[in-house]
Amino acid sequence: MKNTEIKTGLSELIGDKKVISRDENTMDTGSFDAFGLDRTKTYKANYQILVFPENTDDVASIMKYAYANNISIVPSGGRTGYAGGAVAKNGEIVVSLDKMNQVLEFDPFLGSIAVQAGMVTKNLHKEAEERGFYYPVDFAATGSSHIGGNIATNAGGVRVVRYGLVRDWVLGLTVVTGTGEILRFNGEILKNNTGYDLKHLFIGSEGTLGIITECILKLTAPPKDIRVILVAVPDFKSILDIFKKTHSSPLPLLAFEFFTEFCLEKVKEHLGVNSPFSEASAYYVLMEYEVSGENDEDKLFSILEDITNDELIMDGSIAQNSRQNETFWKYREGISESLSLHDTVHKNDISLPLRNMDAFLQEMEALLDSKYPGFQIALFGHIGDGNLHLNILKPKDMEVEEFFLKCKSVDPDMFRLIQKYHGSISAEHGIGLLKKDFLGFSRSEVEIESMKSIKKIFDPKGILNPGKLF
Ligand SMILES: Cc1cc2nc3c(=O)[nH]c(=O)nc-3n(C[C@H](O)[C@H](O)[C@H](O)COP(=O)(O)OP(=O)(O)OC[C@H]3O[C@@H](n4cnc5c(N)ncnc54)[C@H](O)[C@@H]3O)c2cc1C
Repeated sequence: MKNTEIKTGLSELIGDKKVISRDENTMDTGSFDAFGLDRTKTYKANYQILVFPENTDDVASIMKYAYANNISIVPSGGRTGYAGGAVAKNGEIVVSLDKMNQVLEFDPFLGSIAVQAGMVTKNLHKEAEERGFYYPVDFAATGSSHIGGNIATNAGGVRVVRYGLVRDWVLGLTVVTGTGEILRFNGEILKNNTGYDLKHLFIGSEGTLGIITECILKLTAPPKDIRVILVAVPDFKSILDIFKKTHSSPLPLLAFEFFTEFCLEKVKEHLGVNSPFSEASAYYVLMEYEVSGENDEDKLFSILEDITNDELIMDGSIAQNSRQNETFWKYREGISESLSLHDTVHKNDISLPLRNMDAFLQEMEALLDSKYPGFQIALFGHIGDGNLHLNILKPKDMEVEEFFLKCKSVDPDMFRLIQKYHGSISAEHGIGLLKKDFLGFSRSEVEIESMKSIKKIFDPKGILNPGKLF
């Protein structure tokens, strides 16, 4: 079908202001391309039609049109994904949820909020806060990511040790399937034991089963007061020993993150900040605690004293106020940005059972030394969740194409190792385009076939985000 025909057809259904075609010159090429790309930087956008629906009915009209005319669709959220899930490179229609950003309802009895799926995650935090509540899923990209994108990727973030993943906060969903049908899953009640809970199929489905248009999210009480501890740790095993101790601590742990000296150097360079410690250390751990009781500050000191006495840390510091909390967090949250702005990086986001982590890392280091001799590696992540972000940096004198080919050839060795230690090849970023060739390292053939069968139910023509996931 010609693009002009598609543009006219869609404009008649949802209004011409919501449909943009590449050849119209209403948007520069870079901005237009950006709606069909995410943060992977490895793909080129190739698509002609971009639509901005404003409500679920608009999305249903778009999908019905696509179904009738066999046109593929890419749902586009905040485009902060690291798996190529929101990439449109085969002439698909890009459906951006940018204009679907409204609060629909707040229920003080249930402690829940209903919003459109294009709401930026940080705005959701604000909406919850204004109502005296707290939405706890947070990470460095929430200033741009959409709540719909978070649900489609089942995002994690920095407070999973305490609050879990996005999946744990979704009460209800409205989705538009690959035929244009609108499905509303639960939401207004806590208890509903009436068969399969289908919304969970759509959480983490990366836009392959339906377009999420609205969601009802559970909220919670905000943590009263937060204290951040930053410690310098001599070796990886000590990080695990510190984490084991946090389980028996009477203070609620909100976050447990780690990074290496190399990552700290990158952040210092990028943000122009100084090191928090007088001497460099191999690793750093950031712990965040809720302090609400009278003696909680003392308990915090005793945690620091305990890990110091056991010689698990070389140095440590407790943030004295919320500004210092933020400063400490910058050392951790600035890592991704400092890498992506100054380097070409091959990212791997993996998870392992913590009990296997030390043995895995030892074998992993040997593998990296043999396959990537002399390459710089940035290792950091949500270690309390068993989640490592392993980033390999392109050497300055290597061509980009050669670098990514090399990484792709080494990835299977790494994935075999992850399989050996019962881990996952994607902890929280998803599979998208980037890891679809390797899905078999984490999911069995039967599982993958079952996923394909489920896709056929909701997307019989295979037009929703085709080529992603499998
Ligand atoms: C600096 C940085 C830090 C990050 N840290 C974390 C982290 O700690 N934890 C974490 O989990 N992730 C992290 N990410 C990855 C990313 O932010 C998450 O995957 C996020 O949930 C993606 O949301 P998005 O709105 O940007 O989705 P997009 O990138 O736009 O899309 C992601 C996938 O979801 C689909 N999709 C988007 N919206 C919808 C919808 N409404 N309906 C159906 N499908 C849809 C897309 O087609 C695509 O497959 C980080 C990214 C950056 C850049």
